[in-house]
Amino acid sequence: MNSSFRLMQIRGIPLEINISWLMAFFLFSITLAQAYFPGIVAGLSKQAYWAAGIITTLLVFASVLIHEFGHSLVAIKEGIPIKKITLFIFGGIAQMESEPTNPATEFKITAAGPLTSLLIAFITGGLNYLFLPRGQIISESIFFVARLNLYMAIFNLIPAFPLDGGRLFRSIVWHFGKNMLKATRVAVALGSILSFAAMGLGLIIIFFQGDLWGLWLVFMGWMIYQAGQSSYSQLIYKETFSGMKVSALMSTVLQTISPDATLDELAEHFLQYKFGAFPVVYGSTTHGLVSLQNMREIPRDQWAETRVSRILTPLKETLVLRPDTDAAEVMMKMASQNTGRALIMENGDLVGLLSRTDMMRFIQMHMVLRSN
Ligand SMILES: [Zn+2]
Repeated sequence: MNSSFRLMQIRGIPLEINISWLMAFFLFSITLAQAYFPGIVAGLSKQAYWAAGIITTLLVFASVLIHEFGHSLVAIKEGIPIKKITLFIFGGIAQMESEPTNPATEFKITAAGPLTSLLIAFITGGLNYLFLPRGQIISESIFFVARLNLYMAIFNLIPAFPLDGGRLFRSIVWHFGKNMLKATRVAVALGSILSFAAMGLGLIIIFFQGDLWGLWLVFMGWMIYQAGQSSYSQLIYKETFSGMKVSALMSTVLQTISPDATLDELAEHFLQYKFGAFPVVYGSTTHGLVSLQNMREIPRDQWAETRVSRILTPLKETLVLRPDTDAAEVMMKMASQNTGRALIMENGDLVGLLSRTDMMRFIQMHMVLRSN
């Protein structure tokens, strides 16, 4: 979900729209214009249904945006700047520059979102009730927005981390237990249980009632489960590697191999040094990285005449980091580039190698040493 474009800045906060949002916009408008509005207000022109569908969809997305602004304005007031707000298919995310450092701040920032949605629901619902008669396209559109804001507040209050409800739950556990990491573990555990319950319920609905809407529950459950796991790992990385640079973790005793070496020679290298990959270096030029996986592509009987240069992963496709890169960011970078290794280079010179395995070992060590 990396393909986003920047729309504008509101109060200094950049607003980004993810490509998936366009699909949601499209589906929402179609459903409203073709099915929902014709079903409750009869006898209007096609254009009128489409106008109502599109305007209502825009109001729904404006509501999502205001929900995120609710979080953002309180965060800014609490001294945490907002990097950006991104709208995507399921809603929005306000990305904070840093996480709250105490449970009260987290509680306030989180509560602001659902409270904003509730407020919009009451205002739009109330105005509609007092001033507009039911059964007209304008009042039905506003009524729809009011209800959606109510659902949004309720949905976000489900205590499945990282939904707002899960964050509120974490801040409460954090407040009483005085330990953020433990509170997160508890919140993620509850979130996982709820996610699996949602997936289970979705499957029951699909198989026993034959209703494909169950798929939606399965999908939502899976997304929330994934999001919970990934925010927990990110927190572990941050805690473990806080303040550390890549240079402190990388291995500097470098066994390299020449691009002219044959795969037979490379095989010898693997057996002798027992690393999973070698930087490919000729003179002072680094050409890339060659791993055991690269070797698998070539049949055994061609190893004698095949050179490393043919199978290596070139430098431009390798994750290359500077020694002063924050170690906490590396795991995320490796995950997003789907690689387990990074070459560490400074001014064009190879200075080290860092693998995910090295980092995982450090995390384990850190956990054992700290828990006593
Ligand atoms: Zn929220």
